[in-house]
Amino acid sequence: MEFEPLIISSNFDYYNSIIMKIIPISAGNFHCDGGALFSVIPKKLWGKVYPADENNFTKLALRCLLIDYGEQKILIEAGIGNHFPEKHLQNNGVENENCLEESLKKNGYTTDDITDIIFTHLHWDHCTGAVKNRNGKLLPVFTNAKYWCSKKQWEHSKISNPREKAAYHKGVLDFIFKSGKLNLVENEGELFANIEVRFFDGHTPGQMIPFIRYEDKTVVYMADLIPTSTNIPLLWLAAYDLYPVKAMEEKELFLNETAKNGYILFFEHDFYTECVTVSKTEKGFVLKDKFTWLERG
Ligand SMILES: [Zn+2]
Repeated sequence: MEFEPLIISSNFDYYNSIIMKIIPISAGNFHCDGGALFSVIPKKLWGKVYPADENNFTKLALRCLLIDYGEQKILIEAGIGNHFPEKHLQNNGVENENCLEESLKKNGYTTDDITDIIFTHLHWDHCTGAVKNRNGKLLPVFTNAKYWCSKKQWEHSKISNPREKAAYHKGVLDFIFKSGKLNLVENEGELFANIEVRFFDGHTPGQMIPFIRYEDKTVVYMADLIPTSTNIPLLWLAAYDLYPVKAMEEKELFLNETAKNGYILFFEHDFYTECVTVSKTEKGFVLKDKFTWLERG
């Protein structure tokens, strides 16, 4: 199957004439082992800043972001959906995995309203909720949406490696491919007006991170580039990063830019913290302000 060429709208005047709305949308929660979330950092340290339960489970959010541009409504990520057996849900402490539709409804939207879905990458907790399983038959959740993902990540998901293999749901990815609605992004740059995407390879090759210009600020959707606000110190990487040294180098460059330009970091996975700004100090990178999207100044 051939893909449509990457279409970048040139009608930016249209976008500039309407108000962009940014709305956090919940697709549920899940858990991972605290050791996996903080890798080589001892629990004696991370346990002071991110809570864990008696099973050492740390609670993570599946926080999508809706960008409402009037006729165009872009959703970043799609959560988990209903594809996984009970054992998988229990092992990953998954909660409310089918609440995405309800969360959209609470904010006045339906799944049919969504015109585009950006997948930062294709690990199960980021994209499988775009498809639903009804009695063994797969169906799209967002009937009018196109899907966007980096070409590099798409190709990587096909070859992957034994360590990462379980993170990709072949059935869902094949369904998305066959839908004919998948757009593979080859280059960094403006994907939609005021939404630039950039590629990072440390977590998984071709993770596509959205940088959203909103009023006079830049909001960066963190995905797994920095999973929680407590992962900001340089060495506090998650063990899920496929190439940790690369991930650390990318993180340092990114945090320098963040501190310099006052970016707002929006966390997909931090259950306790939605947004932060960052400062660079003698002790390294630290949180400057912490707030929810609604509370932002
Ligand atoms: Zn991931």
